[in-house]
Parts: sequence; C-alpha cells; structure tokens
Amino acid sequence: MSTARPLASVTLPDGQTVRAVVLDRRQEVDGSYWYTLELVLISKVDRFGQPRAEPQPVIWQAPYPVVQPIAGEDYSTVTVRIAPTAVQVWLVEERHSATGTVHVLHRPNCAQPTGRSERVGLEDAAALLGHDDAVPCTVCRPDAGLRGLI
Ligand SMILES: [Zn+2]
Repeated sequence: MSTARPLASVTLPDGQTVRAVVLDRRQEVDGSYWYTLELVLISKVDRFGQPRAEPQPVIWQAPYPVVQPIAGEDYSTVTVRIAPTAVQVWLVEERHSATGTVHVLHRPNCAQPTGRSERVGLEDAAALLGHDDAVPCTVCRPDAGLRGLI
C-alpha cells in the first residue's frame, strides 16, 4: 500500500472493519459520498507451475458511513469529484422589494424566476432554506423535493 494516500476504516458486511487506502471520493446526485478504496490482499498466483502467495490489490467503491475517516489521516490530498448533475442545479432567485431582498429557491426546471438568479448545488440549496431571508417557491415547492434527498 502507498503511504502517500490516507487510510479509512471500512466496515464489512460481517461487521469486521479493515483499513483501506482512499483513492478518491465522489459526491453523487443525491448528495451521498462514495469512496474508491484499495485493499491489498495476499492471493495465490501460479509461477512456472508453482503456487506463490503474492499481493493482489482489490479496488472497489463504498459509501459513507460504511467508510469512516480515521483520526490523524490527511484527506486533503484526496480528490473530491462531484457528479456533473449534482453541481449547481437548484435555482436561487433574488427578489427585491421595499422591505429588502429575499432569496427564492426553485427546482431546476421551474419557469417562475424572472429576476436575477444563480444555480447552486444540493447542499447549498438545503442550507439556504434554513435562512431567514430565503423562502421556497410556492409553485414548484423545492422544499418538498429536497426533503426526499437529504
Ligand atoms: Zn419555482
């Protein structure tokens, strides 16, 4: 195993845990994080007709929380890839009135926004709904959609 890449704790289906190398991390469209992991096993290899025990890397993917960080490991070197459709899909519209600015959150395909708007990702969209100056669109009801995703 490479020492340059951090290790994470992975729980196997039978309950035991192993330490595996984290190759990368990806956020999927539903907001979940998936890790690409490497574990080196010892496996039988035939060399000139003789059985030999040799290291064999196994690479697979598992989600958080099956994969848990280990205290002291540096994950800053791990690439975080984001699924293209997870990026900036929700619409945030700025509406100005005499009482101030309000941010209206819309589903990606809502036709209601008429003012200045920008696209945000799933986490930002969900966080926005917790703010006092933000409201969900009453037509497309993004709050109902977000509840099912988070
Ligand atoms: Zn809307």
